[in-house]
Amino acid sequence: MSFKKDYFEIRLESIGGLGANLAGKILGEYGALYLGLNASSFSSYGSEKRGSPVKSYIRYAKENTPIRVNSPIKTPDVLGIFHIALAGKENLLAGVSENTSIVVNTNKDIDEVRDILKLYGGKLYCIDALNIAIETKSRINMVMLGAIAKTNDFLDINKLEDCIKDTIGKKYPKALENNLNAIKKGYEMVKFKEIKVDNKYDYIVSDDIKTKWGYKNAPIGGVNPSFGSSISNDVSASREGYVPVFIKDKCINCGLCDSTCPDMSFQFVKGEYKGKEAMVNLGIDYHHCKGCLRCVEICPVNALEAKLEKDINIYEQHIRNKDLIIDKLDFENIGASSFVTSESYTEDTKI
Ligand code: SF4
Ligand code: SF4
Repeated sequence: MSFKKDYFEIRLESIGGLGANLAGKILGEYGALYLGLNASSFSSYGSEKRGSPVKSYIRYAKENTPIRVNSPIKTPDVLGIFHIALAGKENLLAGVSENTSIVVNTNKDIDEVRDILKLYGGKLYCIDALNIAIETKSRINMVMLGAIAKTNDFLDINKLEDCIKDTIGKKYPKALENNLNAIKKGYEMVKFKEIKVDNKYDYIVSDDIKTKWGYKNAPIGGVNPSFGSSISNDVSASREGYVPVFIKDKCINCGLCDSTCPDMSFQFVKGEYKGKEAMVNLGIDYHHCKGCLRCVEICPVNALEAKLEKDINIYEQHIRNKDLIIDKLDFENIGASSFVTSESYTEDTKI
């Protein structure tokens, strides 16, 4: 069993840190070496990978059809969304029709996901990849690969496992069992619903198809408008289940966490410590925290602890020093609709 069109195309939408780039490479190798197809795969991401948008493209063609197209995928047969918090991101659903299989990493109910995504139509697959990855001590991308294999009969799960054994298994033999377990769970636990087109939400065409580019509107060269770190950019979707928790009573305000954190997530203000004027640590702005846990490692007095994100109330822990920040984000909605857009670029450049 194979596909009918000339090409079978997969687009992975992600944020740096969740492994979409590697998943794309694995799918490319799997198609070429294990399914007997022609295959190409490539990714696009910014210079700062963790926290910045990532797109990965995989194109398959039958053995006797050469792949002569090297452009990004505009109308995917399979769309993998590596985190539900990407909902609302520009062009996320571009080219998705009722024939597309959409695989989403989410712990939400499948009907709710349709509304969060504002999905036009398609075959919706939902998998709680984050928690399965934690349980199996694997990565989100492995669970997503298993779930993606469920979408089409020719994506043979046994051959995918063989591919993982020969690639990841050779490089990281100790991680192989956990990765295979994660793939299996992704394949077996993914939930499915066919979303019929009912005109509740619009079909979305990608900007570069609908826009006529010219000298007046061409993107500025050498500028990355989808940067990872900025005041308005929400990078919480890069977290893989763990967050640092700040224990104020233990903190000696040494500032090591602040100088270590790649995203300036810590909020320091002028205050008093041991009777002297000092910069005092208020805690973490989780809007910017990628969950890398470097701050936990560096803290000399264990004032930062790594916890499972699902076990803590992130809203109670969340600190935003509004005196330092000018933006229009909804603080109650961290992790959702405020993901980077070209508008956020304009906002930041005004500040
Ligand atoms: S490294 Fe630890 S002790 Fe130092 S400021 Fe940060 S939280 Fe406080
Ligand atoms: S885990 Fe710590 S170091 Fe890493 S982004 Fe979050 S606050 Fe910064």
